[in-house]
Amino acid sequence: MNAVKPIKTVDDLLQAGLATPDDRAMLDEVAARYAIALTPVMARLIDRADPDDPIARQFVPDPAELTVVTGERADPIGDHAHSPVEGIVHRYPDRVLLKAVHICPVYCRFCFRREMVGPQGLGTLDAAAMQAAFDYIADHQKIWEVILTGGDPLVLSPRRLRDIMEALAAIAHVKIVRFHTRVPVVDPEKIDAALIAALKASGKTVYVALHANHPRELTREARAACARLVDAGIAMISQSVLLKGVNDDPDVLAELMKAFVEIRVKPYYLHHPDLAPGTGHFRLTIDEGQRIVAALRGRISGLCQPAYILDIPGGHGKAVIGESVIRATGDGCYSVSDYRGGEHSYPPAG
Ligand SMILES: *Cc1c(COP(=O)(O)O)cnc(C)c1O
Ligand code: SF4
Repeated sequence: MNAVKPIKTVDDLLQAGLATPDDRAMLDEVAARYAIALTPVMARLIDRADPDDPIARQFVPDPAELTVVTGERADPIGDHAHSPVEGIVHRYPDRVLLKAVHICPVYCRFCFRREMVGPQGLGTLDAAAMQAAFDYIADHQKIWEVILTGGDPLVLSPRRLRDIMEALAAIAHVKIVRFHTRVPVVDPEKIDAALIAALKASGKTVYVALHANHPRELTREARAACARLVDAGIAMISQSVLLKGVNDDPDVLAELMKAFVEIRVKPYYLHHPDLAPGTGHFRLTIDEGQRIVAALRGRISGLCQPAYILDIPGGHGKAVIGESVIRATGDGCYSVSDYRGGEHSYPPAG
């Protein structure tokens, strides 16, 4: 029953054995609202005998997606309010998002941009819109970093990626180009010599932020794809989403973060899920999240510690929301807790 071709429709899901005909009406209803896709690599990774498989939970549609709860919104992190020209989101002075494409090789059921991505989504910037985006970046001297996201920018062909990198090469104040992607995990063969050469075409420092949420995603092929990037001089960081039923367990997260470090991907962010419509079944409370993240402290190397992040709804940016380990006790003194929970005082300065 293993799928050999990409899964993009309800029929494909049924054929691949990832759903049963009884699910058909529900699947049609979900598919009418949100894009569906799995790559063959991800479809093969799913254990069909496990009803709680953490890979299936990320990619196979669920009836819970039809329930929208209070507070959920189409634009959970307020991209729209900070978009001066099509495809650019400029919230912080020194960096912009460049959303060249709104297509992904897989569609995550918890996606924060689920109302914008997919075949019915915001589409791909045309040549004129790309030029306007580059002009905006060139006109803003303070932009030090350009973050290609979307959608998944590594669905673009090496030729398109090379065009983007060459356009950025001409803008001297841009020093860093960062890509946010799932491709090394979900379609590792795409990370070939042509793609890597395109990423390096600007001569700028390139970072690839890899999105993965469960240690099983880091297959031998995915690890090899990351090695090709890192060996080529591209720095890698991770981003994961803390998801109920996928990785809401300190053991699973510890294994994921250690695996990242082992393959030279520095753990960067662990996101609290955003308030995207129909994703309530993935969200823990912030209290639960803080406890899980605190359990990583002291137990795994400092190299393996991600920052626990909330993107403040409404476009107010990101905040680090790990449990505070230090509190002021008056007269310039502090009480600080160690990783076992012991409390210690710290004296005033001077
Ligand atoms: C998340 C985000 C960034 C990147 O933030 P970092 O903390 O640098 O990773 C930049 N711009 C916008 C609009 C974002 O939402
Ligand atoms: S890869 Fe990113 S943008 Fe695409 S569906 Fe998943 S979370 Fe959304």
